[in-house]
Amino acid sequence: MADSNVCGECDGRLTVAWDDKLSLHYLKCGKCGPAKTIKRIPDLTEAYKQGESLPPAIEDRVEKNLAKRQAKQQALAGVVTMGGIPATDLGTGELLLPETIQRLAVYARHYGLDPARGHACLMYGKPYFTLDAYLYHAHEVDNPYRLESRPLNKQEREDYQIPEGAHAWVAQVTVIETGAYLTGLGIVTAEEMAEKSRRDPSKLAAPVVAKHPWLLAQKRGEWQAMRRAFPIGGEEEGNV
Ligand SMILES: [Zn+2]
Repeated sequence: MADSNVCGECDGRLTVAWDDKLSLHYLKCGKCGPAKTIKRIPDLTEAYKQGESLPPAIEDRVEKNLAKRQAKQQALAGVVTMGGIPATDLGTGELLLPETIQRLAVYARHYGLDPARGHACLMYGKPYFTLDAYLYHAHEVDNPYRLESRPLNKQEREDYQIPEGAHAWVAQVTVIETGAYLTGLGIVTAEEMAEKSRRDPSKLAAPVVAKHPWLLAQKRGEWQAMRRAFPIGGEEEGNV
C-alpha cells in the first residue's frame, strides 16, 4: 500500500512505520509524519483508462497489453466481448450475451466514454460506470480536484456499524476551485472475502478480493465519492 499511494495532503512518499504504543503499523509521510489520508497512484494501464495522456510509445504498449489481456479473458469466458467490457455480470458472475455487451458499449459511448478502456460493466443486471469511467470523465471535464482516502477509525466503524472483520474506507473528493467536497464509503465484508466460487466450491469466488480487500474497499469509496462529485449524464447526487 505504501508503494501504490502517496500522502493525501502533500503527495509525499509513504513508508510503513510501527507504532509502539498502539502496537500497529501505520503509513508515514516523509514530510508530514503519520499520514492522515492517502492518495492512490494509478499504474500505467489505469492512467490510460482514466484518460491521462501518456508518451505515444508507452500508450502503444499499454494498448497492446490491454488487447492481449482481453483476448485471454475472452478465451476463458468463451464469449466475444467488445474490448474492455467484462464478459460476466460482476454481481452474479453470469456470462453476458453478446447483445448485452453490445448495449453496454453503446451506453458507454452515448455518455462520451470509451468501452475499450473498461468504462462500463453490468452488475446484477444493471449497467454501471466503473471508477475508471468517473476518473476519465473528471479528466475530460477538467475541473481540478483532489482525491484522498483512509481507513475508517474505530469511532467511525462504530457509528457506521461496520461488521467485525470488514474493511471500511472513506474517500473524499475536494474540488480545488470551490473547496466543496464529497465523500464516499467503501466496505468489503468478511463474507465477501470468504465467498466460494459457484462453479468450483473448492475455490474462492474472488481470490483477488481475498488477497487485497483493503484495495477494493478503497476503490469502492473512491467510486462513490467520484460518482457524487462528477456525475455522468443524467445521474443526480440523490440518485446514489
Ligand atoms: Zn505529507
